[in-house]
Amino acid sequence: MSSQARHECGRAWTACWGAALLILPWLFLAPLRAGEMTLDYQLEPRQIAPGVWIFEGSDGDFDRSNGGNILNTGFIETDAGAVVIDPGPTQLYGAQMRAAIERVTDNGIARVYITHRHPDHVVGAQAFSDSPVYALPHTRNALEIDGEALLDGLFRLLGDWMRDSQAVHPDHEAVPGPERIGDRALRFIAWGGHSGQVASDLAILDEQTGVLFAGDLVFNGRAPTTPHADLDAWRKALDAILAMRPQMIVPGHGSAPTTMQAVEETREWLQWLETHLRDAAQRGVSIGEALTLPIDERFSDWSLARHEYVRSVNHLYPEYRDAVLHWNTERAPAP
Ligand SMILES: [Zn+2]
Repeated sequence: MSSQARHECGRAWTACWGAALLILPWLFLAPLRAGEMTLDYQLEPRQIAPGVWIFEGSDGDFDRSNGGNILNTGFIETDAGAVVIDPGPTQLYGAQMRAAIERVTDNGIARVYITHRHPDHVVGAQAFSDSPVYALPHTRNALEIDGEALLDGLFRLLGDWMRDSQAVHPDHEAVPGPERIGDRALRFIAWGGHSGQVASDLAILDEQTGVLFAGDLVFNGRAPTTPHADLDAWRKALDAILAMRPQMIVPGHGSAPTTMQAVEETREWLQWLETHLRDAAQRGVSIGEALTLPIDERFSDWSLARHEYVRSVNHLYPEYRDAVLHWNTERAPAP
């Protein structure tokens, strides 16, 4: 190789190494940058009626790809500020939700309402700590008792999405009944069933548009969760919503907004679940067998149907089985 050629080659190598040195840091940074990107919930408010906005979450379960954005949240504009409904699962969600709200309205935040005790609806309230945060007494008590434990569970599921998240203790009591906030007439309703037996689940009706934020009393195309459920009380709450006939419903989970059909379907699932579990208990089915029983085909295309069915068997089946055992013991012939 001539010295000229070596020189050319050397220049080429120098250029290559130069380029490599420029690229290498980017190769190392790229995964970090991608990781940073995933901590953006990309919340875009959608107006579903005049002054009524929602943020629609996925219909999946908690995981690190969605950061717990598996629920529907929203806000109602008033001239006294926005009324925020369920500030989401993490401090980060709450902060990004607040930024998105402040892009829509200059009136600030009037109040934050938490519909019930489950952490996906609660933790984001941290980002609104300079505004009053309201919840029903049942919810406030539950968060006082096990707010920290719920937070631990979310840390395990969501990892880095939970950075800076802390337990939330709502500082104001939500009072059922009509109330005017700024120029808007709202109605607060305390139903039970999803997260407790009585007055555990807050729903908020905007009188002007007829939009009902139903919290987790209504699911849409996604199997209902039952860790603190009272199925009988829940069905009664759904009957009350059916009687109320709101114009539009924002369900806690699943496609939003929705109609009365989702109320009827949530009720059908609960009715089926109860009949199915009672029937299995009466037939002496073990809990292990109950977990594998088929799900009614009406719900076959619902998101997380098997997952939630299995959770519900674990929560609820022992009670049905014990009721049958108790019934049999009471009627056993005396020895
Ligand atoms: Zn929920």
